[in-house]
Amino acid sequence: MNGPRKHVYVKSFGCQMNVYDSRRMADTLAPEGYSETPSAEAADLVILNTCHIRDKAAEKVYSELGRIRRLKEAAAADGRRVVVAVAGCVAQAEGDEIIRRQPAVDVVVGPQSYHRLPELLQRAARDGRAVDTEFPVDDKFAHLAAPSPAAVRARGASAFITVQEGCDKFCTFCVVPYTRGAELSRPVRAIVAEAEQLAAAGVREVSLIGQNVNAYHGEGPDGWPWPLAQLLHRIAAIGGIERLRYTTSHPRDMSDDLVAAHRDLASLMPQLHLPVQSGSDRVLAAMNRRHTRADYLDLVRRLRDARPDLALTSDFIVGFPGETAADFAATLDLIDEAGFSGAFSFKYSPRPGTPGADMDDQIDEDTKSERLQRLQGAIERHQTAFNRRCLHRSLDVLFERTGRHPGQLVGRSPYLQPVQVTAPASLIGEIAPVTIAEIGSNSLFGVLTSQPRPRAQERDLLAAGA
Ligand code: SAM
Ligand code: SF4
Repeated sequence: MNGPRKHVYVKSFGCQMNVYDSRRMADTLAPEGYSETPSAEAADLVILNTCHIRDKAAEKVYSELGRIRRLKEAAAADGRRVVVAVAGCVAQAEGDEIIRRQPAVDVVVGPQSYHRLPELLQRAARDGRAVDTEFPVDDKFAHLAAPSPAAVRARGASAFITVQEGCDKFCTFCVVPYTRGAELSRPVRAIVAEAEQLAAAGVREVSLIGQNVNAYHGEGPDGWPWPLAQLLHRIAAIGGIERLRYTTSHPRDMSDDLVAAHRDLASLMPQLHLPVQSGSDRVLAAMNRRHTRADYLDLVRRLRDARPDLALTSDFIVGFPGETAADFAATLDLIDEAGFSGAFSFKYSPRPGTPGADMDDQIDEDTKSERLQRLQGAIERHQTAFNRRCLHRSLDVLFERTGRHPGQLVGRSPYLQPVQVTAPASLIGEIAPVTIAEIGSNSLFGVLTSQPRPRAQERDLLAAGA
């Protein structure tokens, strides 16, 4: 690509899938002459990759668009053209409506069409506007440019790979089946190739992600659909990938072989995010979760049999239509029985077009707020208890970045806890044993126990006596 470089600023809202998509958008624009900038002010192209899961998330996008409009006007006064694109689930759900509400927007692109960004930018330059919220039949992943090794390194030693998208579960509160479309799994070959590229550029931890990741059933090299457990075993065999995770899982799709992978696969980290939403059978049925409280607790027991130190996290919704005080008490009770190491919790937000929004017995805001506070208190107690059990233990930490204080690094334990340690910056990207010395409110503090663990390739060389 000739000519001056242009700058793109991509801001992600919402889940890890959006973070992954944002990176792939930047990769797709790199051959068009765009390099990424962390500053909206310096950008020629601003992309907001949006989330529609709750009302607040969608509203945040409009307030951010107000700020971007002022920035675009200031640039225009300086004779500079700034293009504004809205991507992601708000784009999918609201389409043209976004441009009506905020005329500064030039491009609207849904989560299944962002591989067409270069073409949409050309169309916007020509026609003033471009909107694409189709669910195209062609596989977007097959059209996305791979990141350069330098881009991979800049993003750190831990990487996401989207292996599955969309959802066919239709929980009655959720917009995902409408914004992300039907469930689709990428072929094993494409995922392995992506993981090998990441490993070759120095990535040591891979998280396989999907809205319903454990429903994965992508085509294997043998022509048969492979379940997630088989995919995990295959990726674990790639040299250099020392840690594996997957998220987000639905309890209904936790097959026996996936439970067994938590026992058999050393690189599969002992942490699992398994949303339950509620502890009441009545509410679970109204949410169309298709499992009971007993099913969930039985699954937790089987997982802990397979991996006794498993750190289990979850999602909860309080104030779903019709939730009584007794239903809520059942949720608090489940929290005590399951013993979570952390959780995300939300007040129910009625989403247009979902069955929950039309249900009778919507719960008032005050009750939702009061229940959320009590639920978060219960989660915090369990989180603190889990963290306390880590005190004085030596945990392997993968260092990700510098901390807030000079000389401090932040990394992740196998249980995904943030751990802060005084250590040289040369350890970023390395895994080293750390003794946990103190428990903070959001992270652990530790002391480096010894030198970083050699990388897998170095271990092989050492074992061969080289
Ligand atoms: N697929 C995952 C599952 O089945 O649990 C969850 C995906 S969703 C993107 C993430 C979380 O957002 C959900 O687990 C749920 O707790 C929350 N959520 C989704 N819709 C919501 C709504 N309408 N109001 C409040 N929270 C919601
Ligand atoms: Fe939404 Fe998850 Fe239910 Fe699918 S399984 S509808 S993504 S909450």
